[in-house]
Amino acid sequence: MCNQISDRIQLIQARPLVPTVKERTVEDIGEIGNILIKQLVAQDDKRPRTQQTTLGVSSLGGCRRQAWHTIRGDVAENNNLLRLASIMGTAIHKAIEDAFPFGEYEKEIRVEVDNLPIGNVDLYIPHLKAVVDWKTTVVRNLVKFPTTQQRWQVQVYGYLLERVGKRVETVTLVAIPRDSDERSIKVHTEPYDESVALEALAWLDDVKQRTEPPAPERPVNFCKHYCKFYGIQCGGIE
Ligand code: SF4
Repeated sequence: MCNQISDRIQLIQARPLVPTVKERTVEDIGEIGNILIKQLVAQDDKRPRTQQTTLGVSSLGGCRRQAWHTIRGDVAENNNLLRLASIMGTAIHKAIEDAFPFGEYEKEIRVEVDNLPIGNVDLYIPHLKAVVDWKTTVVRNLVKFPTTQQRWQVQVYGYLLERVGKRVETVTLVAIPRDSDERSIKVHTEPYDESVALEALAWLDDVKQRTEPPAPERPVNFCKHYCKFYGIQCGGIE
């Protein structure tokens, strides 16, 4: 074997079996990648839903500390949020909304009842008395679907719609993975149950009544990318 080949083999054998994983940062995506993200974020910032500062129904059952800061109107301090997944989710929601005809379906219904959290219901099907919420996700998260937080959200939508006079018999969550195809869609349907919605609203009342911040409930690795209060106000779980 010539020296060159044996040197090469020795070099390959000397490599660590598990390569060091360097966290990819936004700087690594280059100028064009950064232009793409800048434009998408600027557009997303103009959406009324992005500008909404009140607690949304989707936050019920999430991190209590985050809900507590939101209810108090505390200032966002994390400038390193990763937004692409949520922006892609919005784009998929828009494509679905456009695909359903008016009349037979009621889409993107904003429901405001007393001082309850505002509901933005993806779909209500009057002839089925069904509420539907689309959830964009990734395949590896399907094992956790549906979470209690997701079930609370759609049950509260049912509760809000009942309060404004629409009959609800079932609530449905549809998980749509961004990294797969039709075969990976997962659908969860359950009967509308007012007691589940009231459980979610009791969770919110508990958070509202706290005078001290609740303990952090999410790990730092999640917080630093996805929570606007990460920083001085809350450091997440180390
Ligand atoms: S930083 Fe993490 S633990 Fe703290 S409020 Fe945000 S999500 Fe919750």
